[in-house]
Amino acid sequence: MLSPSVVPVPQERRVVTAIPGPRSVELQARRLAAVASGVGSALPVFLARAHGAIVVDVDGNQFIDLGSGIGVMTIGHTNEAVVAAATAQLNDFTHAMFTITAYESYVRVAELLAEHTPGNHPKKTVLINSGAEAVENAVKIARKHTGRTGVAVLDHAYHGRTNLTMAMTFKAMPYKAGFGPFAPDVHHAPNSYPFHDGLSGTDAAARTISYLEKKVGASDLACLVVEPIQGEGGFVVPADGFLPALQEWCTENGIVFIADEIQSGMARTGAWFASEHFGLVPDMVLSAKGIAGGLPIAGVTGRAEIMDSSHAGGLGGTFGGNPVSAAAAVAVFDEIERHDLLREGRRIEGILKPALLALQQKYAVIGDVRGIGAMLAIELVQPGTHEPNPAAVSSIAAFAAQHGVIILTAGTYGNVLRFLPSLAISDELLGEAVGVLDDAFGAL
Ligand SMILES: *Cc1c(COP(=O)(O)O)cnc(C)c1O
Repeated sequence: MLSPSVVPVPQERRVVTAIPGPRSVELQARRLAAVASGVGSALPVFLARAHGAIVVDVDGNQFIDLGSGIGVMTIGHTNEAVVAAATAQLNDFTHAMFTITAYESYVRVAELLAEHTPGNHPKKTVLINSGAEAVENAVKIARKHTGRTGVAVLDHAYHGRTNLTMAMTFKAMPYKAGFGPFAPDVHHAPNSYPFHDGLSGTDAAARTISYLEKKVGASDLACLVVEPIQGEGGFVVPADGFLPALQEWCTENGIVFIADEIQSGMARTGAWFASEHFGLVPDMVLSAKGIAGGLPIAGVTGRAEIMDSSHAGGLGGTFGGNPVSAAAAVAVFDEIERHDLLREGRRIEGILKPALLALQQKYAVIGDVRGIGAMLAIELVQPGTHEPNPAAVSSIAAFAAQHGVIILTAGTYGNVLRFLPSLAISDELLGEAVGVLDDAFGAL
C-alpha cells in the first residue's frame, strides 16, 4: 500500500505548459548557480512525482517515461511493494555496516542473485553502491583470483566514471576527456557491431581474439568484461555466436569472463539477465541499475571459488548493501517473480519493435532497429548511408520532450535513440509514444 501522502498519478500524457514550464525554469536557474556544470542536463525539467510509466514535473506536465532513469525503474516508478519494503526498513534501521553487524536482507539479495543469474554452479555475491563500484570489485577479484593484471574490454563499452572504469569506458567525450591519466593495463578490442561491420559472430570473435592475443597475450589477462547488449555504446546487439566464442576462449585460457549486466539485467530484456539470450554462463555477473527500484545498490555475483579468492576485509565499503536498498531489492525480485514481469519485457518488444520497423519503412533516416525485450534502439543515419546522424537524434529527442515523451540518446557517435520503458507501461501508452515519435520524424 502506498502511504496516503502519495498523490496517485494517472497513467496519461499531459502537457499543460511550455516545456520546461515556469517552475522548472526557476529551478534550472538555481541549479546552474549551485550545481557543478560537469553534471550534465538532458532535459531542464524538474520532477515532482512519478508512478508506473509516468513522471510528473513541478509544473504539472506528465511525461511518458521511455528512459526510466536509464533503465533503473524497470518495474515502474513508486512500485507499491518496493515503497512498502523500503518504508518498513527505514523505520527499523537505516545503517548497520554489514561487516560489523549483519542483517538478513543482504544475505537474501545474495541468495536471489545466485538463484537468478545464469548457471547452477555455487555462487557468492558482494554488494556495493553503484555500477562502477561493481565493475571495480569484479576486476579486483579477477586479478586476485588469477594473479594476472590485464583487463580486456570491447570497443564502444561503457563501464563507469571512476578512474579504473573510465579506462574501461570507450568514449572520450564526455566520459574521459581531460580526466586522465587512467588506470593501466586496460585493453579495448573490437566488438561485434553487425550494422557496421557486417561480420558473422564467428568472424567478429576471431578478430577480437586475435587482437587480444597479439596485443596483450592471453596469459596476461585477468578478465574480459563484456556488456551482452552494449548500453551507452548504442544498444549494440552482437552477432550470433560472438559472445559464446569469447567465453569459450576465456575458459580455455583461464581468463575470468565477466558480464556487465548493469543495464541489460534484472528483467530488462524479457529474461532475468541478457546473457541467457546468448547462451552464456558468465564467471561473474554485475547488476545495479534495475535491481532495487531506484535505491542505490549493486552486486558482483560469481563462481564461489573466484569470489572467495579475496582475503577477509579486501571487499566492502561503508554503505555497501545498505539495508533500505537491500529491502527494496528483495521486493523487486519478488515483484518480478510474482507478476511474471519477464513476460512484460516480451510484450513490450512485441509492440515496440514492429512499430519501430514500420517507422524505418517510412523514414530513410532510420538505419537500424535493434534490441531485445524492453531494451530497444534505433540508429539514425544520413539516408542511404551508414553515416551517423546525431543532429536528427537531438531533434527527435527534443520534439518528443516538447510533446510529453522522454526519450534517451546513446551511441559512440550520438546517433542512437534508445527505449527503456518500464515494464509497467501499458500498450496504450506505448502506442501513444510511437505516435509522437512518428510526428517527430515527420517534422524533421
Ligand atoms: C550505468 C552503467 C555502469 C555504471 O553504473 P553507475 O551506477 O552509473 O556507476 C556500468 N556499466 C553499464 C553497462 C552501465 O549501463
